[in-house]
Amino acid sequence: MKVRSYQDVLDRILTAIGKSPHLTICHHSNSTTTPSSSLPYPLYCIQYTSKQPNSSLIYISAGIHGDEPAGVECAIRLIEQLSDKKRYKYWDSLLDRFNWMISPCDNPYGYERNIRENADGLDLNRMFETPQHTKETEFIADSLNHISIPKHISREKGSKRLAITVALDLHEDMDSDGFYLWERRRSYHTPIGDVIVNKVNTVCSINRTSKIEGHYNQNGVITLLDQITSKGWTRGRYLAEYEDTSCLILETPTWVDWNSRIKAHMMAIQAAIDMFANPM
Ligand SMILES: [Zn+2]
Repeated sequence: MKVRSYQDVLDRILTAIGKSPHLTICHHSNSTTTPSSSLPYPLYCIQYTSKQPNSSLIYISAGIHGDEPAGVECAIRLIEQLSDKKRYKYWDSLLDRFNWMISPCDNPYGYERNIRENADGLDLNRMFETPQHTKETEFIADSLNHISIPKHISREKGSKRLAITVALDLHEDMDSDGFYLWERRRSYHTPIGDVIVNKVNTVCSINRTSKIEGHYNQNGVITLLDQITSKGWTRGRYLAEYEDTSCLILETPTWVDWNSRIKAHMMAIQAAIDMFANPM
Protein backbone atom coordinates (compact mmCIF):
# COMPACT_ATOMS: atom_id res chain seq x y z
CA MET A 1 0.00 0.00 0.00
CA LYS A 2 1.29 3.44 -0.90
CA VAL A 3 1.76 5.85 1.98
CA ARG A 4 3.71 8.59 0.15
CA SER A 5 3.91 10.01 -3.34
CA TYR A 6 7.17 9.99 -5.28
CA GLN A 7 5.51 12.30 -7.79
CA ASP A 8 5.39 14.94 -5.02
CA VAL A 9 9.18 14.57 -4.64
CA LEU A 10 9.67 15.04 -8.38
CA ASP A 11 7.29 18.03 -8.51
CA ARG A 12 9.22 19.79 -5.75
CA ILE A 13 12.70 19.21 -7.14
CA LEU A 14 11.72 20.11 -10.71
CA THR A 15 10.05 23.31 -9.47
CA ALA A 16 13.25 24.19 -7.60
CA ILE A 17 15.38 23.53 -10.68
CA GLY A 18 13.20 25.94 -12.66
CA LYS A 19 14.10 28.75 -10.26
CA SER A 20 17.89 28.76 -10.52
CA PRO A 21 20.30 28.47 -13.46
CA HIS A 22 22.82 26.99 -11.01
CA LEU A 23 20.58 23.97 -10.37
CA THR A 24 20.61 21.35 -13.11
CA ILE A 25 19.76 17.71 -13.61
CA CYS A 26 23.11 15.97 -13.35
CA HIS A 27 21.73 12.58 -14.38
CA HIS A 28 18.29 11.05 -14.79
CA SER A 29 16.80 7.76 -15.78
CA ASN A 30 13.33 7.01 -17.09
CA SER A 31 13.51 3.26 -16.79
CA THR A 32 13.83 1.76 -13.37
CA THR A 33 11.20 -0.81 -14.25
CA THR A 34 11.96 -4.02 -12.38
CA PRO A 35 10.87 -7.58 -13.16
CA SER A 36 8.23 -7.58 -10.44
CA SER A 37 6.91 -4.10 -11.08
CA SER A 38 5.82 -2.45 -14.29
CA LEU A 39 5.74 0.93 -12.59
CA PRO A 40 8.36 3.26 -14.01
CA TYR A 41 10.21 5.36 -11.47
CA PRO A 42 12.39 8.00 -13.07
CA LEU A 43 15.44 8.64 -10.92
CA TYR A 44 17.05 12.05 -10.61
CA CYS A 45 20.42 13.27 -9.43
CA ILE A 46 20.60 17.05 -9.04
CA GLN A 47 23.62 19.30 -9.30
CA TYR A 48 24.18 22.79 -7.93
CA THR A 49 27.16 24.57 -9.47
CA SER A 50 28.76 27.28 -7.39
CA LYS A 51 29.53 30.71 -8.81
CA GLN A 52 33.12 29.57 -8.24
CA PRO A 53 32.96 26.36 -10.29
CA ASN A 54 36.22 24.98 -8.85
CA SER A 55 34.77 24.80 -5.35
CA SER A 56 34.69 21.53 -3.40
CA LEU A 57 31.93 19.05 -4.23
CA ILE A 58 29.59 17.76 -1.52
CA TYR A 59 27.53 14.64 -2.31
CA ILE A 60 24.21 14.24 -0.48
CA SER A 61 22.13 11.08 -0.92
CA ALA A 62 18.93 9.85 0.72
CA GLY A 63 16.17 7.30 0.60
CA ILE A 64 18.07 4.19 -0.46
CA HIS A 65 16.05 2.57 2.33
CA GLY A 66 12.42 3.44 1.59
CA ASP A 67 11.30 3.43 5.23
CA GLU A 68 13.70 6.24 6.23
CA PRO A 69 11.87 9.30 4.87
CA ALA A 70 13.35 12.15 6.96
CA GLY A 71 16.54 12.02 4.89
CA VAL A 72 14.54 12.37 1.67
CA GLU A 73 12.68 15.38 3.03
CA CYS A 74 15.97 16.97 4.12
CA ALA A 75 17.52 16.42 0.68
CA ILE A 76 14.48 17.98 -1.05
CA ARG A 77 14.59 20.98 1.32
CA LEU A 78 18.28 21.40 0.59
CA ILE A 79 17.54 21.54 -3.15
CA GLU A 80 14.76 24.07 -2.45
CA GLN A 81 17.14 26.18 -0.36
CA LEU A 82 19.76 26.12 -3.10
CA SER A 83 17.09 27.36 -5.55
CA ASP A 84 16.00 30.28 -3.41
CA LYS A 85 18.71 31.37 -1.01
CA LYS A 86 16.98 34.68 -0.22
CA ARG A 87 14.55 32.76 1.98
CA TYR A 88 17.30 31.09 4.00
CA LYS A 89 19.58 33.73 5.42
CA TYR A 90 21.76 31.42 7.49
CA TRP A 91 23.03 29.65 4.42
CA ASP A 92 23.38 32.67 2.14
CA SER A 93 27.08 32.72 1.43
CA LEU A 94 28.02 29.29 2.70
CA LEU A 95 25.84 27.28 0.31
CA ASP A 96 27.37 28.87 -2.75
CA ARG A 97 30.91 28.11 -1.60
CA PHE A 98 30.36 24.50 -2.67
CA ASN A 99 29.27 22.47 -5.64
CA TRP A 100 26.51 20.04 -4.68
CA MET A 101 25.43 16.71 -6.04
CA ILE A 102 22.14 15.59 -4.49
CA SER A 103 20.46 12.25 -5.06
CA PRO A 104 17.24 12.88 -3.11
CA CYS A 105 15.32 9.59 -3.31
CA ASP A 106 17.23 6.51 -4.39
CA ASN A 107 14.51 3.90 -3.83
CA PRO A 108 11.18 5.37 -5.00
CA TYR A 109 9.34 2.04 -4.84
CA GLY A 110 10.29 1.59 -1.18
CA TYR A 111 9.70 5.26 -0.41
CA GLU A 112 6.09 5.15 -1.61
CA ARG A 113 5.35 1.98 0.37
CA ASN A 114 7.51 2.71 3.43
CA ILE A 115 9.57 -0.45 2.99
CA ARG A 116 13.36 -0.81 3.23
CA GLU A 117 13.86 -2.83 0.03
CA ASN A 118 13.12 -2.19 -3.65
CA ALA A 119 10.42 -3.90 -5.72
CA ASP A 120 12.56 -7.05 -5.98
CA GLY A 121 12.98 -7.28 -2.22
CA LEU A 122 16.64 -6.23 -2.38
CA ASP A 123 18.41 -4.08 0.21
CA LEU A 124 19.96 -1.67 -2.28
CA ASN A 125 22.60 -0.56 0.21
CA ARG A 126 24.19 -4.02 0.02
CA MET A 127 24.32 -4.18 -3.78
CA PHE A 128 27.35 -2.05 -4.60
CA GLU A 129 29.81 -4.86 -5.27
CA THR A 130 28.16 -5.05 -8.71
CA PRO A 131 25.98 -1.94 -9.01
CA GLN A 132 24.75 -3.06 -12.45
CA HIS A 133 22.64 -5.77 -10.80
CA THR A 134 19.90 -3.31 -9.91
CA LYS A 135 18.66 -0.30 -11.85
CA GLU A 136 18.79 1.88 -8.76
CA THR A 137 22.42 1.17 -7.82
CA GLU A 138 23.48 1.28 -11.46
CA PHE A 139 21.95 4.75 -11.63
CA ILE A 140 23.86 5.84 -8.51
CA ALA A 141 27.18 4.56 -9.88
CA ASP A 142 26.48 6.22 -13.25
CA SER A 143 25.64 9.52 -11.54
CA LEU A 144 29.18 9.69 -10.16
CA ASN A 145 30.45 9.79 -13.73
CA HIS A 146 28.10 12.60 -14.75
CA ILE A 147 29.14 15.24 -12.25
CA SER A 148 30.88 18.00 -14.14
CA ILE A 149 30.68 21.75 -14.47
CA PRO A 150 27.94 22.69 -16.94
CA LYS A 151 29.09 24.64 -19.99
CA HIS A 152 26.82 27.60 -19.26
CA ILE A 153 28.66 28.15 -15.95
CA SER A 154 32.19 27.06 -16.76
CA ARG A 155 34.40 29.55 -18.54
CA GLU A 156 36.74 26.80 -19.59
CA LYS A 157 36.20 24.80 -22.74
CA GLY A 158 34.82 21.32 -22.24
CA SER A 159 33.52 19.95 -18.98
CA LYS A 160 35.64 18.20 -16.41
CA ARG A 161 34.53 15.64 -13.89
CA LEU A 162 34.63 16.81 -10.28
CA ALA A 163 35.99 14.76 -7.37
CA ILE A 164 33.80 14.45 -4.28
CA THR A 165 35.22 16.09 -1.15
CA VAL A 166 32.83 14.42 1.28
CA ALA A 167 29.63 12.39 0.99
CA LEU A 168 26.73 12.38 3.43
CA ASP A 169 24.25 9.51 3.12
CA LEU A 170 21.05 10.22 5.06
CA HIS A 171 19.47 7.26 6.88
CA GLU A 172 17.22 6.56 9.85
CA ASP A 173 17.25 3.85 12.53
CA MET A 174 14.05 2.62 14.14
CA ASP A 175 15.94 0.77 16.90
CA SER A 176 18.14 3.63 18.07
CA ASP A 177 17.43 5.84 21.07
CA GLY A 178 19.37 8.74 19.57
CA PHE A 179 21.30 10.10 16.59
CA TYR A 180 24.60 8.50 15.58
CA LEU A 181 26.71 8.24 12.44
CA TRP A 182 29.07 5.88 10.66
CA GLU A 183 32.24 7.58 9.49
CA ARG A 184 33.79 5.60 6.67
CA ARG A 185 37.17 7.00 5.73
CA ARG A 186 40.76 6.23 4.91
CA SER A 187 43.30 6.63 7.71
CA TYR A 188 44.69 9.72 5.94
CA HIS A 189 41.28 11.46 5.89
CA THR A 190 40.69 13.90 8.75
CA PRO A 191 37.92 12.61 11.06
CA ILE A 192 34.96 15.02 11.35
CA GLY A 193 32.29 12.81 12.94
CA ASP A 194 32.74 14.20 16.48
CA VAL A 195 32.17 17.79 15.37
CA ILE A 196 29.01 16.80 13.52
CA VAL A 197 27.62 14.84 16.47
CA ASN A 198 28.27 17.77 18.82
CA LYS A 199 26.29 20.07 16.54
CA VAL A 200 23.40 17.63 16.07
CA ASN A 201 23.25 17.21 19.85
CA THR A 202 21.71 20.70 20.05
CA VAL A 203 18.55 19.40 18.34
CA CYS A 204 18.54 15.63 18.99
CA SER A 205 19.80 13.27 21.70
CA ILE A 206 22.83 11.13 20.82
CA ASN A 207 23.04 7.34 21.00
CA ARG A 208 26.07 6.76 23.25
CA THR A 209 25.68 3.03 23.80
CA SER A 210 29.06 1.28 23.54
CA LYS A 211 28.18 -0.98 20.59
CA ILE A 212 25.74 -0.69 17.68
CA GLU A 213 25.25 -3.66 15.36
CA GLY A 214 28.49 -5.16 16.72
CA HIS A 215 30.58 -2.04 16.04
CA TYR A 216 32.20 0.20 18.66
CA ASN A 217 30.33 3.44 19.07
CA GLN A 218 32.27 6.34 20.55
CA ASN A 219 29.74 8.94 21.65
CA GLY A 220 27.71 8.66 18.46
CA VAL A 221 30.54 7.99 16.01
CA ILE A 222 31.28 4.53 14.60
CA THR A 223 34.48 4.65 12.58
CA LEU A 224 34.85 2.30 9.61
CA LEU A 225 38.50 2.66 8.69
CA ASP A 226 40.08 1.69 5.38
CA GLN A 227 39.11 -1.82 4.21
CA ILE A 228 36.46 -2.70 6.78
CA THR A 229 33.96 -5.00 5.07
CA SER A 230 31.63 -5.89 7.94
CA LYS A 231 28.76 -3.79 6.58
CA GLY A 232 28.84 -5.47 3.17
CA TRP A 233 28.82 -3.60 -0.12
CA THR A 234 27.23 -0.32 0.94
CA ARG A 235 27.35 2.96 -0.96
CA GLY A 236 29.87 4.20 1.65
CA ARG A 237 32.23 1.32 0.90
CA TYR A 238 31.83 1.86 -2.84
CA LEU A 239 32.68 5.56 -2.45
CA ALA A 240 35.69 4.75 -0.27
CA GLU A 241 37.08 2.06 -2.54
CA TYR A 242 36.31 3.47 -5.98
CA GLU A 243 36.14 7.22 -5.40
CA ASP A 244 38.55 7.57 -2.44
CA THR A 245 35.84 9.62 -0.74
CA SER A 246 35.11 9.74 2.96
CA CYS A 247 31.44 9.17 3.71
CA LEU A 248 29.29 10.00 6.71
CA ILE A 249 26.24 7.77 7.06
CA LEU A 250 23.79 9.66 9.28
CA GLU A 251 21.18 7.82 11.36
CA THR A 252 18.28 9.68 12.97
CA PRO A 253 16.07 7.82 15.50
CA THR A 254 12.58 7.36 14.05
CA TRP A 255 10.84 7.71 17.44
CA VAL A 256 11.79 11.40 17.45
CA ASP A 257 9.31 13.84 15.88
CA TRP A 258 9.45 14.44 12.12
CA ASN A 259 10.75 18.01 12.15
CA SER A 260 13.54 17.25 14.64
CA ARG A 261 14.79 14.38 12.46
CA ILE A 262 14.90 16.59 9.37
CA LYS A 263 16.61 19.31 11.40
CA ALA A 264 19.18 16.82 12.72
CA HIS A 265 20.11 15.84 9.15
CA MET A 266 20.30 19.48 8.08
CA MET A 267 22.45 20.41 11.09
CA ALA A 268 24.84 17.58 10.24
CA ILE A 269 25.18 18.87 6.67
CA GLN A 270 25.74 22.41 7.98
CA ALA A 271 28.39 21.19 10.42
CA ALA A 272 30.20 19.32 7.64
CA ILE A 273 30.31 22.26 5.26
CA ASP A 274 31.25 24.63 8.09
CA MET A 275 34.32 22.44 8.62
CA PHE A 276 35.29 22.44 4.96
CA ALA A 277 34.63 26.16 4.59
CA ASN A 278 36.65 27.00 7.72
CA PRO A 279 39.12 24.14 8.29
CA MET A 280 40.67 24.03 11.77
ZN1 LIG B 1 19.18 2.98 6.14
